[in-house]
Amino acid sequence: MQKLFLFVLVLIGIWYVRRLLQRNAEKDAQQPAVRSEETRSEAICECRHCGVLVPESEGLVADGEFFCSSEHARAAGRKV
Ligand SMILES: [Zn+2]
Repeated sequence: MQKLFLFVLVLIGIWYVRRLLQRNAEKDAQQPAVRSEETRSEAICECRHCGVLVPESEGLVADGEFFCSSEHARAAGRKV
């Protein structure tokens, strides 16, 4: 009879530990992944004049075409 009691106690112990581990795993899954500045995606566009690849925010659009700088937009005959 004592053995049975011990067996049940061990089962409860295993169940308790598993529940704790599961709760920790859920907590980890809920935390959103931290995104750094580098991993933030930004569109990379190709300059119409020289073909260099530049992040969209660093270039400019003239007449619906992308240029790496206002110099190149002007060189390609666009008014900037
Ligand atoms: Zn260019």
